[in-house]
Amino acid sequence: MTDTIFTKIINKEIPAEILYEDDIALAFSDINPQAPIHFLVIPKKPIVTINDIESEDKATVGHLYWVAAQIAKQKGFAQDGYRAVMNCNEDGGQTVYHIHLHVLAGKALGWPPY
Ligand code: 5GP
Repeated sequence: MTDTIFTKIINKEIPAEILYEDDIALAFSDINPQAPIHFLVIPKKPIVTINDIESEDKATVGHLYWVAAQIAKQKGFAQDGYRAVMNCNEDGGQTVYHIHLHVLAGKALGWPPY
């Protein structure tokens, strides 16, 4: 598969404000924030879309949510609340084809998202 910009962030070939890193995942601030707090949690494995999650990836995807919650608690917005979502393909608004959990917080978010 073709690498995305997120592979370059994982490999530290381009800079990002990194919030968390372990062997499985990386979290970093979104370059174009859509809320007062907006960061991305990505697997180091370059899974293209939600549709490409294999059975062997299930623990990895669950880990992304665990990382999101750890950061939410550490940054102090866990109780106020937040949104943690993945976009899938064109209608879902996906622009980078390496799955990523958007974590948005810092204000009361609107719903539905249109
Ligand atoms: P998507 O539209 O695929 O759901 O979300 C992609 C996200 O990646 C967008 O929110 C966009 O702002 C973010 N993004 C794209 N390129 C970069 C980059 O080079 N650095 C960082 N930190 N975020 C990026």
